[in-house]
Amino acid sequence: MLDFNSRTTFEDHLNQRIDAALVGERAAVPARGYLGASRLGVACDRALQFEFTDTPRDPGASLVGRTLRIFEIGHALEEVAIRWLRASGLDLVTRTRDGGQIGFSVAGGRIRGHADGVVFGAPNMPALQVPALWECKTMNAKAWRETVAKGVVLAKPIYAVQIAIYQAYLEPALPGVSEHPALFTAINKDTAELHHELVPFDATRAQAASDRAVRILRATDAHELLPRIAHDPTHFECRFCPWAERCWRLPG
Ligand code: SF4
Repeated sequence: MLDFNSRTTFEDHLNQRIDAALVGERAAVPARGYLGASRLGVACDRALQFEFTDTPRDPGASLVGRTLRIFEIGHALEEVAIRWLRASGLDLVTRTRDGGQIGFSVAGGRIRGHADGVVFGAPNMPALQVPALWECKTMNAKAWRETVAKGVVLAKPIYAVQIAIYQAYLEPALPGVSEHPALFTAINKDTAELHHELVPFDATRAQAASDRAVRILRATDAHELLPRIAHDPTHFECRFCPWAERCWRLPG
Protein backbone atom coordinates (compact mmCIF):
# COMPACT_ATOMS: atom_id res chain seq x y z
CA MET A 1 0.00 0.00 0.00
CA LEU A 2 1.19 3.47 -0.82
CA ASP A 3 2.38 5.59 2.05
CA PHE A 4 0.86 9.00 1.38
CA ASN A 5 3.16 10.55 3.96
CA SER A 6 6.28 9.32 2.21
CA ARG A 7 6.37 12.29 -0.20
CA THR A 8 6.95 14.68 2.66
CA THR A 9 9.59 12.45 4.11
CA PHE A 10 11.31 12.09 0.76
CA GLU A 11 11.11 15.84 0.09
CA ASP A 12 12.52 16.74 3.48
CA HIS A 13 15.25 14.18 3.11
CA LEU A 14 16.27 15.46 -0.32
CA ASN A 15 16.23 19.09 0.76
CA GLN A 16 18.30 18.25 3.82
CA ARG A 17 20.85 16.56 1.58
CA ILE A 18 21.00 19.55 -0.74
CA ASP A 19 21.44 21.97 2.13
CA ALA A 20 24.01 19.77 3.83
CA ALA A 21 25.99 19.67 0.58
CA LEU A 22 25.85 23.46 0.20
CA VAL A 23 26.85 24.06 3.80
CA GLY A 24 29.71 21.56 3.37
CA GLU A 25 30.89 23.31 0.21
CA ARG A 26 30.78 26.65 1.99
CA ALA A 27 32.74 25.32 4.96
CA ALA A 28 35.46 24.08 2.61
CA VAL A 29 36.00 27.54 1.11
CA PRO A 30 39.07 29.09 2.74
CA ALA A 31 38.64 32.42 4.52
CA ARG A 32 39.26 35.14 1.98
CA GLY A 33 41.75 37.02 4.13
CA TYR A 34 40.99 40.47 2.75
CA LEU A 35 38.47 43.18 3.33
CA GLY A 36 35.86 42.99 0.61
CA ALA A 37 35.24 46.48 -0.77
CA SER A 38 31.66 45.48 -1.54
CA ARG A 39 31.09 45.32 2.21
CA LEU A 40 32.33 48.79 3.10
CA GLY A 41 28.79 50.10 3.36
CA VAL A 42 27.92 47.71 6.21
CA ALA A 43 26.48 49.92 8.93
CA CYS A 44 28.54 48.79 11.94
CA ASP A 45 32.36 49.06 12.10
CA ARG A 46 32.56 46.25 14.60
CA ALA A 47 30.43 43.89 12.51
CA LEU A 48 32.63 44.64 9.51
CA GLN A 49 35.70 43.93 11.62
CA PHE A 50 34.24 40.58 12.73
CA GLU A 51 33.57 39.76 9.09
CA PHE A 52 37.06 40.77 7.98
CA THR A 53 38.72 38.71 10.71
CA ASP A 54 36.53 35.71 9.89
CA THR A 55 35.26 35.65 13.47
CA PRO A 56 32.95 32.65 13.99
CA ARG A 57 29.29 33.56 13.94
CA ASP A 58 27.18 33.01 17.04
CA PRO A 59 25.72 29.52 17.56
CA GLY A 60 22.52 29.44 15.54
CA ALA A 61 23.64 32.26 13.25
CA SER A 62 25.65 30.21 10.76
CA LEU A 63 24.79 30.45 7.10
CA VAL A 64 22.09 27.88 6.46
CA GLY A 65 21.26 26.09 3.24
CA ARG A 66 18.37 28.39 2.36
CA THR A 67 20.59 31.49 2.61
CA LEU A 68 23.22 29.81 0.46
CA ARG A 69 20.56 28.93 -2.09
CA ILE A 70 19.43 32.56 -2.16
CA PHE A 71 23.04 33.66 -2.82
CA GLU A 72 23.44 31.15 -5.63
CA ILE A 73 20.14 32.05 -7.29
CA GLY A 74 21.32 35.67 -7.23
CA HIS A 75 24.52 34.71 -9.07
CA ALA A 76 22.57 32.67 -11.61
CA LEU A 77 20.19 35.55 -12.30
CA GLU A 78 23.15 37.85 -12.79
CA GLU A 79 24.28 35.60 -15.66
CA VAL A 80 20.82 35.95 -17.19
CA ALA A 81 20.98 39.74 -16.87
CA ILE A 82 24.35 39.74 -18.65
CA ARG A 83 22.75 37.92 -21.58
CA TRP A 84 19.80 40.31 -21.68
CA LEU A 85 22.00 43.42 -21.59
CA ARG A 86 24.22 42.07 -24.34
CA ALA A 87 21.14 41.21 -26.38
CA SER A 88 20.11 44.87 -26.06
CA GLY A 89 23.33 45.87 -27.79
CA LEU A 90 25.54 46.74 -24.84
CA ASP A 91 29.17 45.73 -25.03
CA LEU A 92 29.28 44.37 -21.51
CA VAL A 93 32.54 42.77 -20.41
CA THR A 94 32.51 40.63 -17.29
CA ARG A 95 35.90 38.93 -17.47
CA THR A 96 39.47 39.96 -18.15
CA ARG A 97 41.25 38.63 -21.25
CA ASP A 98 42.65 35.72 -19.27
CA GLY A 99 39.22 34.81 -17.88
CA GLY A 100 39.68 36.38 -14.45
CA GLN A 101 37.34 38.70 -12.64
CA ILE A 102 37.49 42.43 -13.27
CA GLY A 103 38.67 43.85 -10.01
CA PHE A 104 41.21 45.68 -7.95
CA SER A 105 43.52 44.98 -5.07
CA VAL A 106 44.90 47.76 -2.88
CA ALA A 107 46.64 48.13 0.50
CA GLY A 108 48.97 45.24 -0.27
CA GLY A 109 46.06 43.02 -1.28
CA ARG A 110 44.17 43.56 1.97
CA ILE A 111 41.31 45.42 0.28
CA ARG A 112 39.87 43.89 -2.86
CA GLY A 113 36.79 44.09 -4.98
CA HIS A 114 35.39 42.32 -8.03
CA ALA A 115 33.03 44.12 -10.36
CA ASP A 116 30.07 42.45 -12.02
CA GLY A 117 31.12 44.04 -15.29
CA VAL A 118 32.09 47.09 -17.27
CA VAL A 119 30.15 48.50 -20.23
CA PHE A 120 32.55 49.45 -23.01
CA GLY A 121 30.03 50.20 -25.71
CA ALA A 122 26.43 51.42 -25.75
CA PRO A 123 25.44 52.10 -29.37
CA ASN A 124 22.62 54.64 -29.76
CA MET A 125 22.38 55.13 -26.00
CA PRO A 126 23.97 58.54 -25.44
CA ALA A 127 22.86 58.62 -21.81
CA LEU A 128 25.20 55.77 -21.04
CA GLN A 129 28.78 57.00 -21.30
CA VAL A 130 31.50 54.41 -21.39
CA PRO A 131 33.43 52.87 -19.83
CA ALA A 132 30.80 52.47 -17.13
CA LEU A 133 30.88 50.17 -14.13
CA TRP A 134 28.00 47.69 -14.10
CA GLU A 135 26.59 46.35 -10.85
CA CYS A 136 23.68 43.94 -10.67
CA LYS A 137 21.57 42.90 -7.68
CA THR A 138 18.58 40.65 -7.29
CA MET A 139 15.83 41.60 -4.85
CA ASN A 140 12.42 40.51 -3.69
CA ALA A 141 9.49 42.58 -4.90
CA LYS A 142 9.31 44.79 -1.80
CA ALA A 143 12.99 45.77 -1.87
CA TRP A 144 12.89 46.19 -5.64
CA ARG A 145 9.89 48.56 -5.49
CA GLU A 146 11.60 50.61 -2.78
CA THR A 147 14.75 50.84 -4.92
CA VAL A 148 12.73 51.97 -7.92
CA ALA A 149 10.86 54.54 -5.84
CA LYS A 150 13.80 56.03 -3.94
CA GLY A 151 16.82 55.17 -6.08
CA VAL A 152 19.70 52.96 -5.02
CA VAL A 153 21.50 55.64 -2.98
CA LEU A 154 18.62 56.08 -0.55
CA ALA A 155 17.07 52.63 -0.71
CA LYS A 156 20.27 50.56 -0.63
CA PRO A 157 23.16 52.70 0.62
CA ILE A 158 25.39 49.64 0.98
CA TYR A 159 25.25 49.18 -2.80
CA ALA A 160 25.86 52.90 -3.38
CA VAL A 161 29.06 52.66 -1.30
CA GLN A 162 30.14 49.61 -3.28
CA ILE A 163 29.58 51.42 -6.57
CA ALA A 164 31.48 54.54 -5.44
CA ILE A 165 34.51 52.69 -4.13
CA TYR A 166 34.67 50.39 -7.15
CA GLN A 167 34.59 53.39 -9.48
CA ALA A 168 37.40 55.02 -7.51
CA TYR A 169 39.63 51.97 -7.27
CA LEU A 170 39.06 50.85 -10.87
CA GLU A 171 39.85 54.28 -12.30
CA PRO A 172 43.63 53.72 -12.65
CA ALA A 173 43.06 50.57 -14.73
CA LEU A 174 39.98 51.86 -16.56
CA PRO A 175 40.35 55.60 -17.10
CA GLY A 176 36.96 57.29 -17.26
CA VAL A 177 35.08 54.74 -15.16
CA SER A 178 34.77 57.21 -12.30
CA GLU A 179 33.81 60.10 -14.60
CA HIS A 180 30.86 58.25 -16.05
CA PRO A 181 27.82 57.20 -14.05
CA ALA A 182 27.70 53.51 -13.20
CA LEU A 183 24.91 51.35 -14.57
CA PHE A 184 23.03 49.71 -11.71
CA THR A 185 20.61 46.90 -12.57
CA ALA A 186 18.15 45.44 -10.08
CA ILE A 187 16.17 42.31 -10.92
CA ASN A 188 12.83 41.71 -9.24
CA LYS A 189 13.03 38.02 -8.38
CA ASP A 190 9.27 37.74 -7.99
CA THR A 191 8.15 39.41 -11.21
CA ALA A 192 11.26 39.46 -13.49
CA GLU A 193 10.90 43.24 -13.81
CA LEU A 194 14.14 45.13 -14.39
CA HIS A 195 15.26 48.44 -12.95
CA HIS A 196 18.24 50.28 -14.46
CA GLU A 197 19.71 53.37 -12.92
CA LEU A 198 22.66 55.56 -13.80
CA VAL A 199 24.57 56.36 -10.61
CA PRO A 200 27.01 59.31 -10.80
CA PHE A 201 30.35 58.94 -9.06
CA ASP A 202 30.32 60.30 -5.51
CA ALA A 203 33.91 61.08 -4.52
CA THR A 204 32.95 61.90 -0.93
CA ARG A 205 31.24 58.56 -0.51
CA ALA A 206 34.22 56.74 -2.01
CA GLN A 207 36.68 58.60 0.22
CA ALA A 208 34.64 57.85 3.35
CA ALA A 209 34.58 54.16 2.46
CA SER A 210 38.30 54.11 1.78
CA ASP A 211 38.99 55.85 5.12
CA ARG A 212 36.79 53.33 6.82
CA ALA A 213 38.68 50.43 5.28
CA VAL A 214 41.98 51.88 6.53
CA ARG A 215 40.49 52.35 10.00
CA ILE A 216 39.41 48.71 10.11
CA LEU A 217 42.78 47.42 8.94
CA ARG A 218 44.67 49.57 11.44
CA ALA A 219 42.43 48.65 14.37
CA THR A 220 42.70 44.97 13.53
CA ASP A 221 46.49 45.15 13.24
CA ALA A 222 46.58 46.85 16.65
CA HIS A 223 44.22 44.19 18.10
CA GLU A 224 41.71 46.92 18.90
CA LEU A 225 38.03 46.21 18.86
CA LEU A 226 36.11 48.86 16.98
CA PRO A 227 33.13 50.50 18.66
CA ARG A 228 29.59 49.25 18.38
CA ILE A 229 27.03 51.02 16.29
CA ALA A 230 24.55 51.07 19.17
CA HIS A 231 24.21 51.37 22.93
CA ASP A 232 21.52 48.76 23.13
CA PRO A 233 21.39 45.20 21.75
CA THR A 234 17.82 45.76 20.64
CA HIS A 235 19.08 48.18 17.96
CA PHE A 236 17.88 47.20 14.48
CA GLU A 237 21.38 46.29 13.23
CA CYS A 238 22.15 44.19 16.32
CA ARG A 239 18.95 42.19 16.10
CA PHE A 240 20.07 40.78 12.75
CA CYS A 241 23.80 40.63 13.47
CA PRO A 242 25.40 37.15 13.41
CA TRP A 243 27.94 38.25 16.06
CA ALA A 244 25.48 39.88 18.47
CA GLU A 245 25.99 37.46 21.36
CA ARG A 246 29.77 37.74 21.12
CA CYS A 247 29.66 41.48 20.63
CA TRP A 248 27.60 42.24 23.70
CA ARG A 249 29.77 40.00 25.88
CA LEU A 250 32.84 42.03 24.89
CA PRO A 251 33.78 45.48 26.16
CA GLY A 252 31.97 48.42 24.57
S1 SF4 B 1 25.76 43.34 17.61
FE1 SF4 B 1 25.39 45.42 16.88
S2 SF4 B 1 27.10 46.63 17.63
FE2 SF4 B 1 27.68 44.47 17.78
S3 SF4 B 1 28.78 44.01 15.89
FE3 SF4 B 1 26.65 43.47 15.57
S4 SF4 B 1 25.70 45.29 14.69
FE4 SF4 B 1 27.64 45.93 15.57
